Amino acid sequence: MGTGEPSPLESVNAFFDEAADLIHLRDEMYAVLKTSYREIQVQVPVRMDNGDLSVFTGYRVQHNGARGPYKGGIRYHPAADLDEVRALASLMTWKTALVDIPFGGAKGGITVDPTDMSAHELETMTRRFTNAIGHVLGVNRDIPAPDVNTNAQVMAWMMDAYSAGHGYTPAIVTGKPLDLGGAPGREAATGRGVVYVLEAACKRWGVDLSTARVAIQGFGNVGSWVARALHEQHVRVVAVSDARGGIYRSDGLDVAALEDIATSRRSVVEVAGYDQITNDELIECDCDVLVPAALGDVITQRNADRVRATILLEAANHPTDTAGDKILNERGVRIVPDVLANAGGVTGSYFEWAQNIQQFKWKEGRFNDELRDVMTRSFDAVADFAESRRIPLRPAAFAIAIERVARASKMRGYI
Ligand code: NAD
Repeated sequence: MGTGEPSPLESVNAFFDEAADLIHLRDEMYAVLKTSYREIQVQVPVRMDNGDLSVFTGYRVQHNGARGPYKGGIRYHPAADLDEVRALASLMTWKTALVDIPFGGAKGGITVDPTDMSAHELETMTRRFTNAIGHVLGVNRDIPAPDVNTNAQVMAWMMDAYSAGHGYTPAIVTGKPLDLGGAPGREAATGRGVVYVLEAACKRWGVDLSTARVAIQGFGNVGSWVARALHEQHVRVVAVSDARGGIYRSDGLDVAALEDIATSRRSVVEVAGYDQITNDELIECDCDVLVPAALGDVITQRNADRVRATILLEAANHPTDTAGDKILNERGVRIVPDVLANAGGVTGSYFEWAQNIQQFKWKEGRFNDELRDVMTRSFDAVADFAESRRIPLRPAAFAIAIERVARASKMRGYI
């Protein structure tokens, strides 16, 4: 990184180490859980529309599969490298264990900036990548999902590429279009899950959500659905942003008017009538709840002492590095960690996968009710553990998850 700040993997490993100490994890188990089970790097050559060949690098990392098939998203981003994918894969192991769904943890990615790629180039790249990692995928082996810069269409291409060799296999990916076995509710599930957790947190901590002001960084799948779910509850969203910058208004934005921004290629900064802010300013803006919902490592020692929110709700993965975490904890900011806050996405993926296997479709109402139940129960379990040990939520969440994965790994004879 060259900035002296920890890499994503160093941060995630430090959080793991802290929780492993807390539960006195044995050295042998520590050695197994600290490392990935399998890491593959593949070449992804793509003939671009102008006739040139671009050769991209893709990854799939399977961290731990003791509790079920590997599960985790696919990210297309210039900063997606093996270090980041490893960190994200291990977070998936802790997340699936924490919400107690029958999956392990994995992540994948391609080092690429897809913003200016045509649909044809994206499709070719996705199919090549799927074929290159296809031998480690499987309905009971490893099931990808969308993440940054991938969506239902990308999942449809992955499913089609895999199905070409295996027969019609919708359960091979989640986050699919509804016409191909996608589950009504899955697209919104991460964002809705974030809001269900916030409701549970406010209830426990005696915070009146109806008067809270929320700022959201990132207005893609997760950020835009957080905004919409808050809007449905009449909670004020005072700031949103995307890669180009953000907008702010202290008495609240018109969220309904922003809805089509997330699905078009437009930016929130094109919406007139609000104060323009930078992404750095959004992190430090005047609000009660801050929701990073874009990339990692946005709250660090550079800015953690200027965060004004009293609740940090980590919708993005690893938005806070170890130094940022320490500063916020010292300042009494309540952090709802990523492995808990954004676990609605993988929980919704579990619902979709289970429905595909059963060839049965739930109504969206049932999907959301089950999701709320999982998120609320998980929050309460983490908060109970944290209160009993007088520790923040993050080490509590990691401790619960590591204990579950360690038990399963031991019983399966990994050590
Ligand atoms: P997305 O690609 O749909 O949206 C990403 C958003 O971040 C976009 O609005 C983009 O403009 C913005 N962004 C990109 N670079 C930025 C920058 N430098 N500064 C500020 N904003 C920037 O991705 P997503 O699926 O919404 O994922 C967002 C985060 O949530 C990621 O950390 C992802 O790992 C995490 N997450 C996603 C899911 C899911 O189901 N999609 C589940 C769990 C966690």
